[in-house]
Amino acid sequence: MTVLVHMAVGAAVGSFVGGRGAAFTLGLLSHIPLDVIPHSEYEKTWLEVTVVAVAFGAMLVAGMGHTTAFWGAVGGAVPDVENLFWRMGLLPARRKMFPGHAPWLRRFVPHGRTLPARHAWWQVGIVAVALLVAARNLVA
Ligand SMILES: [Zn+2]
Repeated sequence: MTVLVHMAVGAAVGSFVGGRGAAFTLGLLSHIPLDVIPHSEYEKTWLEVTVVAVAFGAMLVAGMGHTTAFWGAVGGAVPDVENLFWRMGLLPARRKMFPGHAPWLRRFVPHGRTLPARHAWWQVGIVAVALLVAARNLVA
């Protein structure tokens, strides 16, 4: 799944708890089922890195750095740092550790097959719903 989806869902699940550590952990755990679902990925790594940096930057500028939604988003995004290093040629695929990424764990936690970009619309829907949930919990 794209990192933006992981961030949004991480923010949503993190927004339900009161502590940053719990929010981070929930965001981290949410990463696993999202990667199992067949999904589209960015073709250009630099574009995804830019989108993620802008999203985190916007959250920090908006003063959300202390919120559990922010820490849930961080937890949701962190596992894909190893994918970034792999794409950059800095980490061999066999060294990936996270369930859904690690080849040696794929028997237990498979990674969803890659869908063409035209299927990305429902990922936009997941992001929209997740952001609504997170925003609702922020103001509640
Ligand atoms: Zn992932």
